[in-house]
Amino acid sequence: MKSYRKELWFYLPTRRGFINITRQVEDCLHESGIKEGLILVNPMHITASVFINDDESGLLHDYESWLEKLAPHEPTSQYWHNRTGEDNADAHIKRQAMGREVVVAVTEGRLDFGPWEQIFYGEFDGGRRKRVLVKIIGE
Ligand code: ZN
Repeated sequence: MKSYRKELWFYLPTRRGFINITRQVEDCLHESGIKEGLILVNPMHITASVFINDDESGLLHDYESWLEKLAPHEPTSQYWHNRTGEDNADAHIKRQAMGREVVVAVTEGRLDFGPWEQIFYGEFDGGRRKRVLVKIIGE
């Protein structure tokens, strides 16, 4: 069995945002040389998500509105977590809602996706560099 590991770095100057990282994950897959197996993609941070959905700008906007209703950033004093001196309780909750990781089947050297599936990085506490782990196992 072959094994491959890589860290992808992302930086969003804004507090929140979404990046389609499908191409970068495909590049990892090609670099790995693995044709049949599984690929795991997860942020190595607890205020960011990796998830799969449609790359449609209206939908990305809808996530932003929904998440901000679910866990508004302001007022920051409404969260117990922020009593530690942080201001990112909402980011932890938004990440929990959007999920930690994705696992994708690798078949014949390609991501075995349905027609509209794309991999996204979701940032909820930006302004600093963050890593995403890509781990691939297979033959
Ligand atoms: Zn925190």
